[in-house]
Amino acid sequence: MKRIAIDMDEVIADANFRFAEWYTRDHGIEFTHEQLNSKRFSDLLQDDHKYLIKEYVYHDDFFKDLPVMPGCQEVIKDLYDKYEIFITTAAMEFPNSLLPKLDWLGKHFPYISWTNIVFCGDKSIINADYLIDDNVKHFKRFIGQGVLFTASHNHDVVWDVRVNTWDDVRKLLL
Ligand SMILES: [Mg+2]
Repeated sequence: MKRIAIDMDEVIADANFRFAEWYTRDHGIEFTHEQLNSKRFSDLLQDDHKYLIKEYVYHDDFFKDLPVMPGCQEVIKDLYDKYEIFITTAAMEFPNSLLPKLDWLGKHFPYISWTNIVFCGDKSIINADYLIDDNVKHFKRFIGQGVLFTASHNHDVVWDVRVNTWDDVRKLLL
């Protein structure tokens, strides 16, 4: 079986939602879907609020109960029959995310064993045929094919294999 490594934030877990949710809570400002999808979240904020990004992401509750990205549960379930599936997340950057991420995976992807969950830093250590990720930096030294998952921050990035939705992943890999 070929192996697929799948990132979490902005690929299967909607971390952008949490930024928007907390910013609305703290400052009463709501962004439209179009705004959230077109720009990196920090670019939507006024300069003296940009520090909030770090404050939020290092908060213990940031990664708790994030929404699941549309379609990924169905597609990953189908991929699971044909590929070895690994969840690979650079979680070491945010030690506060470790337990919430593990809980989240257990809740939404209960059939993915702990043996196939990789909390890491540099993803070049990952040995897989595909890596689905929203950040091209992880493809630079990756041995397989990087599949760029479109996110608000990567519209301008040039990469040969890009998917916009989980339906695109289905078309590409199933
Ligand atoms: Mg990501």
